[in-house]
Amino acid sequence: MDQEKIKRGVELLLEGIGEDIDREGLKDTPDRIARMYEEIFEGYDKKPSEVLSRVFSFPNHEMVMEKDITFYSMCEHHMMPFYGKAHIAYIPGDKVVGISKLARTVEIFARRLQIQERMTGQIADALMEELSSEGVMVVLEAEHLCMTMRGVKKPGSRTVTIATRGSFEESEQLRNRFFQMLEIR
Ligand code: ZN
Repeated sequence: MDQEKIKRGVELLLEGIGEDIDREGLKDTPDRIARMYEEIFEGYDKKPSEVLSRVFSFPNHEMVMEKDITFYSMCEHHMMPFYGKAHIAYIPGDKVVGISKLARTVEIFARRLQIQERMTGQIADALMEELSSEGVMVVLEAEHLCMTMRGVKKPGSRTVTIATRGSFEESEQLRNRFFQMLEIR
């Protein structure tokens, strides 16, 4: 990541909105944002294969679900946060992965400029391909600040996206099972 370019860009933004970039509160802002971007956009440097390569053989082909995975991402249209929960289920082929790796996969795709629809599909594709799963289903629900803080201003409204692959695509029964398991508290 080019920290200098980010700093120059933030300075221009501040000047553009009519701010005094030398006043005390803003003096270090370009630098702070550049350092923050290292973290919130670190997903560009990571591949899902890095976290999903550690697998265990397991003969059980039952659905595994991890729900309520909190994520924070940035919308690529406005560079404003969208954040919420990811719910993931997969049906293993012959390989299962440590549960924490599902959350780390979400993180890799969240920490980029994104649109929610694409992120949902990327998570599903990664779990399908890297684990040779029989099926994957991903649901993301998120609040987009670009929608709730400006424009239509509907605080608390959530966008829900869904991606199905493999057996989840074919079987309505499996999709229903996903939603049943999601209900269990
Ligand atoms: Zn947006």
